[in-house]
Amino acid sequence: MLNVEPGATVNVEPCRCCGKDRRASFGFVHDHGETVAFYYAALEPTQHGERSIVTAVSLGDWGHEVDPSTRCAAVIRAKLVNGEIELTFLEPADSPVKDRAMLGNVMSKAEAIASVACDRFIEIAGAVLLEDPDVNEHIAR
Ligand SMILES: [Zn+2]
Repeated sequence: MLNVEPGATVNVEPCRCCGKDRRASFGFVHDHGETVAFYYAALEPTQHGERSIVTAVSLGDWGHEVDPSTRCAAVIRAKLVNGEIELTFLEPADSPVKDRAMLGNVMSKAEAIASVACDRFIEIAGAVLLEDPDVNEHIAR
């Protein structure tokens, strides 16, 4: 059973296309008490005419001494379409996290879809959308 622990919501650099302020929420996801993932979700400006969130999900061991290269990550966009949340994988260049080394190996869209971790990425992104209050309010309000 996944458990989302939101850390903080921060202001990030303004949107490149419209200059509007953007916020991001990040935290950890636990599975039966064990930390299994880190997430960083950028809440896209609502001025874009759609509700959208771009999340980097990094799977692996988040202990202090752990080599980040043991982790693997994917970038996922969540969008509200006709009342349904649609999830799609994006490319590493779309990652809202600049320090990508911290995330581990960030997979391309094709790699993520073909990966054994594909379902896990989707499962974790889904849990974040439901359980991080700022993320949930942005997408589902
Ligand atoms: Zn914009």
